Amino acid sequence: KEQERLQKVIANRGGASRRATEKMIEAGRVKVNGVVVTQLGTKVDVDAEITINDQPVIDNKEKYYFLFNKPRRVISTMYDPKKRKIVADFFQDVEARVYPVGRLDYDVSGLIIMTNDGDFANFVMHPKYEFLKTYQALCDGPVSKEQIRNLLKGVIIDEDYKTSAVTARMANYNKERNHSIIELTIAEGRKHHVKKMLAAAEIQLLKLKRTQIEFLTDEGLEVGEYRSLTPHEIKRFY
Ligand code: URA
Repeated sequence: KEQERLQKVIANRGGASRRATEKMIEAGRVKVNGVVVTQLGTKVDVDAEITINDQPVIDNKEKYYFLFNKPRRVISTMYDPKKRKIVADFFQDVEARVYPVGRLDYDVSGLIIMTNDGDFANFVMHPKYEFLKTYQALCDGPVSKEQIRNLLKGVIIDEDYKTSAVTARMANYNKERNHSIIELTIAEGRKHHVKKMLAAAEIQLLKLKRTQIEFLTDEGLEVGEYRSLTPHEIKRFY
């Protein structure tokens, strides 16, 4: 009988991205024919009965691509041991197990792509393609021109990593509340990237929202809503 590595079989069925799959296997959340498998690379029959979190991973030939406007206080994983709200909760009506392409922090709202196409997810997530992401940051107090300049020139995060915004601008200052709104676009996506950049520029972040991924904007998409990507939009990515 034809056998393949467990990660590959799951990815081929559109179950999850490769990295996510590896983590789930190691965490003991994957069963093959009813038995937990924690060893990465275990060969299994291509038609084996596989479950993730006891949910069957069926071969879903149809590929789905959604743009989701994630609310704050929703975690962008498919499982949360702390039982917080997860992105999957919003996609229960979708037949396939769609999962997030990349991450948005629990306390960050805005755009995230959801798909069951592992190749697409791996492509879009790969650092070398540097897809642009735009964020709107609500900040406490005024933000100076020099601070904006520093974001553009580059700031140091993660001890020794220099990173700069592709664009950064002051969008609004509310004198009454003493709040600023700045907008910045970055091409990278380290963990807590924007938060660390703002902290490095000594800007007090209150709230963060992702408003754009490349050409995809949040226009007309309420928080908590999603829409399908059009075939044309999918093609523009790869
Ligand atoms: N930068 C952050 O700090 N958090 C996110 O969720 C995304 C970008």
